Amino acid sequence: MTASYNSKVFIDNKTFLFKIQKMKRLAIDMDNVIADITEAFLNSHERETGVRLTPNDINGKMEREAFPTVLDWVNTEGYFRHLAVMPDSQRVVKQLIEHYDVFIVSAATQFPTCLNDKMFWLQDHFPFIGWQNICLCGSKTIIKADILIDDHFKNLDYFEGETLLYTTFHNVFANEGRHKRVNNWLEIEQILLP
Ligand SMILES: [Mg+2]
Repeated sequence: MTASYNSKVFIDNKTFLFKIQKMKRLAIDMDNVIADITEAFLNSHERETGVRLTPNDINGKMEREAFPTVLDWVNTEGYFRHLAVMPDSQRVVKQLIEHYDVFIVSAATQFPTCLNDKMFWLQDHFPFIGWQNICLCGSKTIIKADILIDDHFKNLDYFEGETLLYTTFHNVFANEGRHKRVNNWLEIEQILLP
């Protein structure tokens, strides 16, 4: 594994500044939006207990309620390295970067061992996104963009722009309020692409 990130898609500063001045800025979350962390949780739970949970078991529950040992898993080095990619996300994000200044924004610093995992996962599955457009942060209240796609109200509620709530087990029964609910990347494609 090389130590540097995505040197092949380096954008020079002039191009970067041109992009951020001309296009709407779109912030995209990772877990449960482009990375299928729920599948990993179901697999981990099954390995630990021998029980495969179903949507009925976890829908409407927050992560720690649905998966009591989740904090052990997400603090394990390598846990975020081999997550499945959400269907259609690569194709749609690749199209979106033609129309938006796309940033991947993940609240990652809570679990320090995930930082490398997330960078190399992105390099594998979204190699067309340069390091300038990846923001691994703490609280997302620092993020200023025009549109945010996320599965957590704690991120969407404080965001000042347009908000898309990506459906996942913990928010499936929640009232989306001012946020627009999307169930998959085909719906995002319909909403955000011309
Ligand atoms: Mg998420």
